[in-house]
Amino acid sequence: MIFFKDGEYLQEEQMNLSINDRGYAFGDGVYEVIKVYDGMLYTANEHLERLIESAAKIKISLPYTLEQLIEITEELQQKNELSTGHIYLQVTRGVAPRAHQFPDQNMPPVVTGYTVENPRPVEQLAAGAAMKSVEDMRWLRCDIKSLNLLGNVLAKQEAVESGCQEALFVRDGIVREGSASNVFGIKEGVLYTHPANHFILNGITRRVVLRLASELSLPVVEKEFTLEEACSMAEFFFTSTNAEITPVVTIDGRTVGKGVPGMITKQLQKMFEAQIPVLVAAGQAQERDANGPAS
Ligand code: PMP
Repeated sequence: MIFFKDGEYLQEEQMNLSINDRGYAFGDGVYEVIKVYDGMLYTANEHLERLIESAAKIKISLPYTLEQLIEITEELQQKNELSTGHIYLQVTRGVAPRAHQFPDQNMPPVVTGYTVENPRPVEQLAAGAAMKSVEDMRWLRCDIKSLNLLGNVLAKQEAVESGCQEALFVRDGIVREGSASNVFGIKEGVLYTHPANHFILNGITRRVVLRLASELSLPVVEKEFTLEEACSMAEFFFTSTNAEITPVVTIDGRTVGKGVPGMITKQLQKMFEAQIPVLVAAGQAQERDANGPAS
């Protein structure tokens, strides 16, 4: 495996990370996960633009342009011959003796990256997933893709301990997003999702789904809804870079819709696959469709 660190491509044993890295001490940094399908980067521009935005929101000035970040991402994919999986990029405020305030001298940020080979979650995409509602105890800047993931980690663990695949964050009675995903509900032919504000991360997959919905002439309403309303949706799903469009069949053990992936959700999944040429070429889209459960 080849890693990236501050302009260099290194073997693991050459990676020299400091105990005084503010990412390690405070989670003082941001990150991105960029999907690769069959060697092809997917929505890399959007992810890297969000990385620059996240960094700016916490007052880290990235030492690379968007073009340079794309180059780094491509180099990592090529050097590791990554087929299907993702590229992880992280930026921390840098290395300085531990003190909460920003370091005095302008320390350069530490930028690292590596690749992970992992297949598409085809079984879960076909069968759907279970969600567990969890009180959202995170801070109020969930729009920043921060390294601080303690609230997300605890929520996911709670969901997994209950035999669920994903947690559903609820704050003030309102369904916000998953522990590592955005959520959508469909009722009477309308697609509902939380507005892109500081309560959620504006997912890149979320944006893709909104585009697909418009192509499908599916009306979209970006507004808050309650846990009770979520449970009474005809269809429900969560989205993320790795989970793509995952149908939700139960929330807190309660059946959503017919308890199988919904028709419109499946239509969106099909459209999602159809806009990734390498998936169509590899016949993966059709293959999964044929094996998917009937609704
Ligand atoms: N919300 C949170 C809290 C997440 O961690 C993620 C995963 N990055 C998402 C939403 C989905 O974002 P994306 O579609 O860009 O992966």
